[in-house]
Amino acid sequence: MKDVELRSGVTLPALGMGTWNLGDSAARREEEILSLQRGLDAGLRVIDTAEMYGDGRSESLVGEAIAGRRDDVFLVDKVLPSNASFDGVQDRCRAALRRLDTDRIDLYLLHWRGRYALEETVRGMEQLQADGLIVDWGVSNFDVDDMEELGRVTDTCSVNQILYSLEYRGTEFDLLDADQRSGVVTMAYSPLGQGGDLLTDEALIDVASRHETTAGPATTAQVALAWVLRRPNVLAIPKAGSVRHMEENILATQITLSDEDLALLDRAFPPPRRKTPLAMI
Ligand code: NDP
Repeated sequence: MKDVELRSGVTLPALGMGTWNLGDSAARREEEILSLQRGLDAGLRVIDTAEMYGDGRSESLVGEAIAGRRDDVFLVDKVLPSNASFDGVQDRCRAALRRLDTDRIDLYLLHWRGRYALEETVRGMEQLQADGLIVDWGVSNFDVDDMEELGRVTDTCSVNQILYSLEYRGTEFDLLDADQRSGVVTMAYSPLGQGGDLLTDEALIDVASRHETTAGPATTAQVALAWVLRRPNVLAIPKAGSVRHMEENILATQITLSDEDLALLDRAFPPPRRKTPLAMI
């Protein structure tokens, strides 16, 4: 499996696990926990959560899923912008750690920009690092101009987590390269188009029909993931609420798209020709 390297030198498998909406249904809870555990068993390390997801329910479910195997996990959590003051960040991080039932978050992200000055939030992050509550920090939903502004405050941001999929390629124009040049890893969220129309697109069906994994014919979800994972410096965090989906997503790492596949996908989902503001979900 491809790796990405953070500026700290830590390397991570480029396929991680999202958790938005996990923990919202008592009936699905057991399967969702098994899904994350299956991912860890297969060597995936990154689990992405946020205090926003189900008002902490996702974090609690993640805490349950990783109990007893904390060192297998690279835990990513996100603080809401409305809580991103110096004191707010201290407070919310401690609350998140309680829900996660752990002593540290590996990577703490500002979920998107809000009213607090970047200097203040960054100071909050650095304090958490000094106290050992977080190992590393980063941002989410930051466009090129936001990253430039952040760059004038600090050069220690590790990750920018953004929307990136075949349906949302605008960042190929500038942000993906700009982040890579400044040593910031891109974490691609909603790489499966949230399980919507992308997965029934004719071009993906066509490309999928040309590929196999060890479990059989490739699926459109695997093509969508392989496409995101083709980029260097990009780590994808699809959400799989079932073991079946998790296993399917892991097998996506067996697929290498050909030039012909990529050209076909470019026709269906054209790359950007000009700057488009960063989209977010
Ligand atoms: P995804 O693109 O990951 O799609 C998830 C959907 O795809 C679910 O409905 C899931 O169904 C389905 N799915 C998963 N695997 C397969 C498969 N192999 N075949 C068919 N369907 C599949 O969308 P998300 O929005 O969840 O994004 C991923 C993660 O990124 C989030 O969970 C969250 O952690 C993060 N995120 C961050 C944001 C930010 O602002 N920073 C914003 C949005 C997301 P099922 O659950 O049944 O498996």
